[in-house]
Amino acid sequence: MAESCYLDELNESQRKAVLYNDGPMLVIAGAGSGKTRVLTYKIAYLLDHGYEPWSVLALTFTNKAAREMKERIARQVGINRARYLWMGTFHSIFSRILRMEAEKIGFTSSFTIYDSADSKSLIKAIVKELQLDDKVYKPGMIQSRISNAKNHLVSPQAYAASAEMREADKAAKIPLAGDIYLRYCERCRQGNAMDFDDLLVYTYRLFREHPDVCKGYAAKFRYVLVDEYQDTNYAQHCIVLQLTQEHRRICVVGDDAQSIYSFRGANIDNILNFTRQYKDALLFKLEQNYRSTQTIVKAANSLIEKNRQQIQKNVFSENDKGEPIPVSCAYSDVEEGEIVANKIVELHRRGGYAYHDCAVLYRTNAQSRIFEEALRRKGIPYQVYGGLSFYQRKEIKDVIAYFRLAVNPNDEEAFKRVINYPARGIGDTTLNKLVDAATKQHVSLWEVLNEPLAYGLSLNKGTAAKLQAFRDLIAGFVSGAPEKDAYTLGQDIVRRSGIINDIYQDRTPENLSRQENIEELISGIHDFCSDREEEGDSHILLADYLSEVSLLTDQDGEKDDNVSKVTLMTIHSAKGLEFPNVFVVGMEEGLFPGISADNPRSLEEERRLFYVAITRAESHCYLSYAKSRFRYGKMEFGNPSRFLRDIDTKFLCLPAGEQLARQVEIGAGRFRKEIAGGFRRPEVRSYDTGGPSMFDGGEMPQEPHRFVAPRKLRKIDSSSVPASSSVGQMSGDSLEGKHIEHERFGRGVVEKVEGAGDNRKATVRFENAGVKQLLLKFARFKVC
Ligand code: ATP
Ligand code: MG
Repeated sequence: MAESCYLDELNESQRKAVLYNDGPMLVIAGAGSGKTRVLTYKIAYLLDHGYEPWSVLALTFTNKAAREMKERIARQVGINRARYLWMGTFHSIFSRILRMEAEKIGFTSSFTIYDSADSKSLIKAIVKELQLDDKVYKPGMIQSRISNAKNHLVSPQAYAASAEMREADKAAKIPLAGDIYLRYCERCRQGNAMDFDDLLVYTYRLFREHPDVCKGYAAKFRYVLVDEYQDTNYAQHCIVLQLTQEHRRICVVGDDAQSIYSFRGANIDNILNFTRQYKDALLFKLEQNYRSTQTIVKAANSLIEKNRQQIQKNVFSENDKGEPIPVSCAYSDVEEGEIVANKIVELHRRGGYAYHDCAVLYRTNAQSRIFEEALRRKGIPYQVYGGLSFYQRKEIKDVIAYFRLAVNPNDEEAFKRVINYPARGIGDTTLNKLVDAATKQHVSLWEVLNEPLAYGLSLNKGTAAKLQAFRDLIAGFVSGAPEKDAYTLGQDIVRRSGIINDIYQDRTPENLSRQENIEELISGIHDFCSDREEEGDSHILLADYLSEVSLLTDQDGEKDDNVSKVTLMTIHSAKGLEFPNVFVVGMEEGLFPGISADNPRSLEEERRLFYVAITRAESHCYLSYAKSRFRYGKMEFGNPSRFLRDIDTKFLCLPAGEQLARQVEIGAGRFRKEIAGGFRRPEVRSYDTGGPSMFDGGEMPQEPHRFVAPRKLRKIDSSSVPASSSVGQMSGDSLEGKHIEHERFGRGVVEKVEGAGDNRKATVRFENAGVKQLLLKFARFKVC
């Protein structure tokens, strides 16, 4: 696209921000005012004005945002140039740099990345080794303390030396927290592993301890751009400074009113400090919102005004006035689900909206279930983002642990996970011996395994042989890792590790679903390799695949099919996104704001979160709350959120429209039935704030969820639910001998049908996928 053409797509203030490239700059503006658009167009402009793509570094909050930005730029400057931009999240960009420079900071380039569960498990092990009480030294709490220290670039040594930290730990009755931190870092290093925070800490240290390396990257990245700057933490801020303090070609964009990650160490002061650190920085303000109706913008403004801490802005919209925001009151959480689902049906049928034009946003992952059920009942396709990711499922974690060992056999957490899975007779006593020896001698478990005698392990003959067999198995994978392509080695590992045998020997529905997941994982690797090959890489290793999957975020996903689906996600994950119709649900005291928002500071953060939620909406925003909700295993009665009162009532529709009111009535009947039934639900689910909430530990969900395109994202795909004309209702005889077309396996012939009820299975010979057994209750196919 010609330059003049794309500059015409900007308003005057936006154009100025794109054209100014002579020094540091900061764009502070309200939601939907085109900050991300400015960054995107600015990059295109730089590419048209002498900047090579590899000399531009753009840091985004999610990989998805980076991908979208790249696609947009590609449309303007061509994919062949856009491809070489350095664009991604802080974590993905810095892990890329760290892999190239790992030796300089005492790691190897094949270091693995510990996810939050790995790091918690390591902390737990250390607490045990130090013979501390894990009820006092709660691993989760220690983990967030360590994370906090890292995000503020406080090393274990500095932590130990700080009287302030020591006092705080003493006051919290965990005086040895600093020792755990130190040991945790040593163990990660021995395991050649980094956790997410380490990716920042070690990049910072790399640049600080190797000024030549820092200079090299600073010279390479001639222009640095950061989106969502309000949610960067201190470590990220310092790295950006390291890279740009010389040449000062930096552009950051953000909105203080959307700062919602202080619990992860994001510091709103970074925005305020920016102009202090870059004294000649120019401040640009954008005021026109292009996303939302006037009513939505005004409602959001009236809400955020209630926060004391904020930079004054005048955000306005010249879009349609729009309708007042309906607020619905449901009798129960189930009712709330129904109200939302009904409204989506109406928007679809009468409003002409596609399902993907609708999003349901909630405060906590645990709320998704109610909406999933309501949508599923109506046959509305949906996609859940976040929550328990595909990669957190037990069978997937097991396979990935083998992959990690193949690439980095020193990885302690992966080692512990699979040393006796599938069962090979190596018990806890033996593992503890290995751990003791490794800890004492400051080496990895793998090193001890290689020379048990040299490390003083006393083992009986049988155990020694079992350990040797495990060692040989892993050594075989390790030797294949630098040579074999990811797909071949991945298949090899799944087979030779014994996982396939373990899962395939027992054909329970749970195992069938696990098999499918593992097959998805392998086909995901295949897709990954094909994508990379298309980009010109010829030899894709398992290490390449691992480094991508360990950095996926809740928002990352690709549309695997062309089915239009409703989006279900937490408000945190919705940052930066926009949808024509947005439902903000669970507007109740104790839920939103949550009970932990018990001080003005955190209350303001929750209010900003609500601001983010409302401002995702383009045409319609709907708010709802439930008078009763099943939480912590019992029915709770709640009050409407105080945030509803923060919005000027002239922008709200209270009570909700006729249609909704009628639905609430229908709901009341059901609610009464529930009361009669003693508030019992068939299943009680845990309620938490953001962590994995469903199907944890590989349990089978009540209704099966098949995961599609796992390499990018967990998608609980409602289309996996059989259609109402399910083949499961056909009699076995009527199906035998029939030609069918399965959604994934393609065409085949049903050879046999056996079992009854939910356990009815068909043996199908597929033209291209061999013989498979399908559980009819779940299978997705049509009879040809
Ligand atoms: P957020 O704070 O939510 O991240 P933002 O400030 O980054 O929002 P964008 O996402 O860049 O805003 O823009 C919001 C919407 O407005 C997008 O759909 C964008 O394409 C559109 N938009 C922005 N500027 C213009 C413009 N000048 N003309 C037309 N549409 C615009
Ligand atoms: Mg944006």
